[in-house]
Amino acid sequence: MRKIRKIILHCSDSDLHEHDNIQVVRQWHLKRNWIDIGYHFFITKDGKVNRGRDIDTIGAHCARHNRDSIGICLSGRHQFTDDQFCSLRLLLLKLMMEYDLPKTAIHPHHRYNKKKSCPNYDVQEILDTL
Ligand SMILES: [Zn+2]
Repeated sequence: MRKIRKIILHCSDSDLHEHDNIQVVRQWHLKRNWIDIGYHFFITKDGKVNRGRDIDTIGAHCARHNRDSIGICLSGRHQFTDDQFCSLRLLLLKLMMEYDLPKTAIHPHHRYNKKKSCPNYDVQEILDTL
């Protein structure tokens, strides 16, 4: 079992309906010769929490920070739904309990990569309402 120290939040960077599907994102990542989708969870616009990589498997979602983190991706670029944020909050609360993580362990991707705007939603606002 690896030690989980943080959770990193992402978006899929596409609002196209046909991309609102974990199998499509999995195919993008398999085409890069990765073993599977890079994220551990992918939340589609209907609020469904889709399982990606097993949590015990290191993800591929944030350079230099994959080893000790869980990656969660919301489907979307600029248009996210209340159902997604509702599911995200519940998932975060569950993971915080399970891995004994404080709110300060939850980070937007752009904190680690200043060139990115990912996840394009206000993570602090989510943390404030947990
Ligand atoms: Zn990201």
